[in-house]
Amino acid sequence: MAPSPGSRTELSVVIPMYNEEEVLPALVARLRPALAATGVPYEVVAVNDGSTDRTSALLHELLADWRELRVVELRRNSGHQAALTAGLHSAVGAYVASIDADLQDPPEKIAEMLELAERDKLDIVYGVRADRSTDTGFKRRTAGLYYWLIRRMVGERVPSQAGDFRLLSREAVEALKALPDQQQVYRLLVPWLGFPSGQVAYHRDERVAGRTKYPLSKMIRLAVDSITNFSAAPLRIATWLGVASFFGCFAMVAATLTIYVTGHTVPGWTSLFVAMLFLGGIQLICVGLLGEYIGRIYTAVQRRPTYFIGYDSSQESRPTADAAPE
Ligand code: UDP
Ligand code: MG
Repeated sequence: MAPSPGSRTELSVVIPMYNEEEVLPALVARLRPALAATGVPYEVVAVNDGSTDRTSALLHELLADWRELRVVELRRNSGHQAALTAGLHSAVGAYVASIDADLQDPPEKIAEMLELAERDKLDIVYGVRADRSTDTGFKRRTAGLYYWLIRRMVGERVPSQAGDFRLLSREAVEALKALPDQQQVYRLLVPWLGFPSGQVAYHRDERVAGRTKYPLSKMIRLAVDSITNFSAAPLRIATWLGVASFFGCFAMVAATLTIYVTGHTVPGWTSLFVAMLFLGGIQLICVGLLGEYIGRIYTAVQRRPTYFIGYDSSQESRPTADAAPE
């Protein structure tokens, strides 16, 4: 696809940002030349996910002398995946790349992804982590468990070390936009689409500055969303536990009758209490699982948007450096 300069944006780069004031200068310093080097008309869609630091102010300062920058501000912190959704919906490019703000994914690889997609007519190019040596041991282990579980449930089509650094064609983006999903987990939805795809390996660097915006609670949320969005298998756990305890009961009845017939009636408090605790625990787990899915049905029925855009720089005339944000 040959770019037609001026008229059409060939490449959009979506970057979700949550309290990234410390990494922004370094990001711009590396991303801007990397994108200029591609030689295609591009736009950068910076999605400010309700940051409470100076991210918004810094982005507005950048608007003044970076024509290709677009700033989309969400009204409140809506989470990484929701910010990505906002970016994908706002992007206009023939290809749309997504990248983290913290320079863990090298921006220079975007050119390689674009080249591969254009050359081999691919709709999806995944950035795949060649090694995770810079991540903490805890992150590596939890990520390993996550991808193992997900590949077992969604299938081998999910690349095992691909996060949210990837390139999508316009067609793939439109397919994603048309999905009615509420809690999108793109690293699963994208492979699920089944478009022709390729991979670009990269070395995952350390976050250049600041701290991770993915505390354990958000990681657990992502894992639960991933599992429940793609599988009803946990619901079946209830059935299997039920079957197991049913057969367990048979054995207990047989044992009880034997004890009764032989006249060895025992006090039996311990066994009763243990059985009660065990069954009560299983029942609560199963009710919790049901609740998790019913909660999702409820959210889906409500059909509330996952994000609200409070400001989009492309909707207004360009502010100058000292113009105040909305
Ligand atoms: N992020 C976001 N909203 C959030 C949390 C994170 O937009 O609620 C962005 C964050 O600014 C970064 C990306 O998502 O660009 C990935 O976050 P981070 O690097 O903290 O995650 P990690 O690499 O530690 O998994
Ligand atoms: Mg990171």
